[in-house]
Amino acid sequence: MKRYLLFLYFVVLSSAAFAQADTTQRVASGRRNSPEQQKKPYVILISADGFRYDYADKYNATNLKALRAQGVEAASMAPSFPSKTFPNHYTIVTGMYPATHGLINNVFYDPQRKQSYSIGDRSKVEDGSWYGGTPLWVLAEKQQMVSASYFWVGSEAPIQGIRPTYYYRYSEVVPMESRIKTVVDWLNLPEEQRPHLITFYLPEVDHAGHRFGPDAPETEKAVKELDENIKKLTDAVATTGLPVNFIFVSDHGMIKINQENTLPLPAAVDTAKFLVSGGGMVVELHAKDKTAIKSTYKKLKAEADGKYKVYTRNNLPRRLHYGTKDDTYKRVGDILLLTDAPKVFHFSSRKPSPGAHGYDPDKVKEMHATFYAWGPAFKAGQKISSFKNIHVYPLVAELLGLEYTHKIDGKKKLSKKVLK
Ligand code: AMP
Ligand code: ZN
Ligand code: ZN
Repeated sequence: MKRYLLFLYFVVLSSAAFAQADTTQRVASGRRNSPEQQKKPYVILISADGFRYDYADKYNATNLKALRAQGVEAASMAPSFPSKTFPNHYTIVTGMYPATHGLINNVFYDPQRKQSYSIGDRSKVEDGSWYGGTPLWVLAEKQQMVSASYFWVGSEAPIQGIRPTYYYRYSEVVPMESRIKTVVDWLNLPEEQRPHLITFYLPEVDHAGHRFGPDAPETEKAVKELDENIKKLTDAVATTGLPVNFIFVSDHGMIKINQENTLPLPAAVDTAKFLVSGGGMVVELHAKDKTAIKSTYKKLKAEADGKYKVYTRNNLPRRLHYGTKDDTYKRVGDILLLTDAPKVFHFSSRKPSPGAHGYDPDKVKEMHATFYAWGPAFKAGQKISSFKNIHVYPLVAELLGLEYTHKIDGKKKLSKKVLK
């Protein structure tokens, strides 16, 4: 009887999971590569979430090590602040800092809209009005180049009314073999319909890093599995015989945090006067009553006692590009509370997971991400120093011969170092 109940439980659970998962490919009709674009090379932009800059060496990811040796290896890639998933994935594809493109955190409050954005809220994730900048696939499609996405932050929303020609709604249930097959199928399409820019996203290493910490055997296993999947993908793509360039990046790294002595919301924060957003290493306070900012700031400074740093959006260090000057959509809080690693704010009774990210990447090297690139357009055996993730956009644009005139934060200097 017990066994039967257990079986029933699993049937209900898995059918619930499948009922929710929407795994069908979305295709925008009528999109075609122009004759000029058909002559362009191909780029597969892969992101392995939370793949810290040193993981390939730390865990001997043999396939990635061999692939980067054929191409380019950066000592690390510095994420933008805050070193979280959504802001950084969207920075990579827009060339703008989070405050500039508007996706300032995984969860944030927009005082002008009087609404919160959250990665768990599909109605927001799929609403293009939250996203600034011009993602690479929008740039491509506007110039009559077909693009495809097997997941990327922003790809499910019509941004400036445009999604990739082929895309999927985010779901972790599709087996890797099937995702790889889809990429190969895309590359085997007739030239007019074949995507020249493909994004591909893998969440597993981040999940393991959070749950078990960056030094755990489970994280090592996740890195090794991902490394095998990269080999499967590159081998499968090689069968097409096309000039495909691979750019392997991550959004941020991972560090073991202090799970025991977490910081509560400071007593100086009156929640009747402030809306509290965030947690962990970055807490943002939005004043409901602007006259409360000055006095609360002073009280917080006195209360902090070295446990955390207190800023207003006007005196936040400029190098973080997260203050008033960079904040296009006025989404950054009036007061910001930042912790140093490994300290975190934690407002629930559940113990936090051992691994986390979000810290200032200039102060915490463990926040640094990965950048490797290989393929016919890239120099071979090229090692370069660490650079900021805002510079990936101009590189991809140059590789695909896409033009842009809008202002971004990234500069064109990376292409000269890495392209043949
Ligand atoms: P974090 O690593 O804490 O910044 O959280 C990011 C989470 O976002 C990861 O665990 C992913 O599973 C999830 N994620 C990535 N892409 C998407 C997407 N397009 N839609 C919803 N969730 C996503
Ligand atoms: Zn991430
Ligand atoms: Zn994460």
